[in-house]
Amino acid sequence: MKALDELTFDNRFARLGDAFSAHVLPEPIDNPRLVVSSPAAMALLDLDPTTAETQEFAELFGGHKLWADAEPRAMVYSGHQFGGYTPQLGDGRGLLLGEVYNEAGEHWDLHLKGAGQTPFSRMGDGRAVLRSSIREFLASEALNALNIPSSRAACVIGSDTPVWREKQERAAMVLRLAPSHIRFGHFEYFYYTKRPEQQKQLGEHVLAMHFPECLEQPEPYLAMFREIVERNAELIAKWQAYGFCHGVMNTDNMSILGITFDFGPFAFLDDFDANFICNHSDDQGRYSFSNQVPIGQWNLSALAQALTPFISVEALRETLGLYLPLFQAHYLDLMRRRLGFTMPEDDDQLLLENLLQLMQNSGVDYTLFFRRLGDQSAELAVAQLRDDFVDIKGFDAWGERYVARVTRDGALDQEQRRARMHAVNPLYILRNYLAQRAIDAAEQGDYSEVRRLHAVLSKPFEEQPGMESYAERPPEWGKHLEISCSS
Ligand code: AMP
Ligand code: MG
Repeated sequence: MKALDELTFDNRFARLGDAFSAHVLPEPIDNPRLVVSSPAAMALLDLDPTTAETQEFAELFGGHKLWADAEPRAMVYSGHQFGGYTPQLGDGRGLLLGEVYNEAGEHWDLHLKGAGQTPFSRMGDGRAVLRSSIREFLASEALNALNIPSSRAACVIGSDTPVWREKQERAAMVLRLAPSHIRFGHFEYFYYTKRPEQQKQLGEHVLAMHFPECLEQPEPYLAMFREIVERNAELIAKWQAYGFCHGVMNTDNMSILGITFDFGPFAFLDDFDANFICNHSDDQGRYSFSNQVPIGQWNLSALAQALTPFISVEALRETLGLYLPLFQAHYLDLMRRRLGFTMPEDDDQLLLENLLQLMQNSGVDYTLFFRRLGDQSAELAVAQLRDDFVDIKGFDAWGERYVARVTRDGALDQEQRRARMHAVNPLYILRNYLAQRAIDAAEQGDYSEVRRLHAVLSKPFEEQPGMESYAERPPEWGKHLEISCSS
């Protein structure tokens, strides 16, 4: 375990130079204090979790202090936002504080979000509000606990600094960790500004740092693109399998590592709804729940376009063609496990589609349905769940097929079946109303609910005595919360 001043920095991205990022110092927030920390994320830096309670910790991640070896930089990138190209974006309110190696030799970027204005702030104030910082923190750590790749969050630091959104709020900072903060939009920026030398420098940096095995291949850039396609297909399969809606899948919010990145108006589904739109400014539903699958491919083609200086168009096209079949294979595999099957059968896709259609028509809770399906034998579970469906006959017909399918799969005793299904079917997910309740308390200065919720979500598959209420469907007030896009 390390003390706060013992981190080992090696700032490789900063050394790429001023064409890639600008040196900016964090602008401190007033009266910084710990809102919540993640011992698991701190462990990635070998940091003693008790240091989170110190004043020094709040000062470091509230922008008051800096390590001598940190080299804070605002990165430049661009990207396609809602289908249109924006020629220059960049870290408008976040800073790459530095790159750290842990004792296991892993590389972690330290990124402080809400650290003040940068040359890329455009009209923005460079700040992040407490509400959105808490949401990013909870979502990062909750996704990770669900085995869904994500950037991590080590802490939220609150403050007295006023910030204006629709009303006056308070500024906060999140310490985000990721092996890389390079986005699809980084490659797009150098492609569209016609700077092949710098684009190559970026590509070589990414290959060496994050895809060293691709350097052994005859065409390293093609191997890297293939890996990015594979990782994103798998990531989006996981989002779809667990009902996660990102909300702003612009190419500047897509990580080259295939991890969930940049949290805004995201949501987990409560009731199953393929057409769910979590972002209230997304009038067309471009980023609706089911559209995440084709949008993943659209975003990868935008990246492919930016990689045309390195890879032939035919090879890019062929590699892009892998996305949908890979997505489908991962998704079906996950859903088979969620349904409790061990062996694949040809009709599984159809069985699943029929179930989702029935759930859609009846507004059935997506998470609890799968959890309850494993609670008891298939026959008993189906008999209990039928009451949740409006089309009872339709569900009964599905239930018969399901029970027959489970029987063909091989008779496990119910204990084994439950253990196997509960290991992939969470009881606790980050429902919007749970986040909102924690935020409301935190805005009044009470951080206990955020901390409790974070603890519950760090073990989503385990029953936690006394925490049953965290598994409940939303109350009336929490069903259709409008999550503000301002953050
Ligand atoms: P986002 O929608 O959060 O991914 O942000 C899109 C772009 O706007 C990024 O370049 C952000 O850095 C920038 N941005 C968002 N909010 C602010 C803010 N309050 N101040 C400065 N830049 C911001
Ligand atoms: Mg963003």
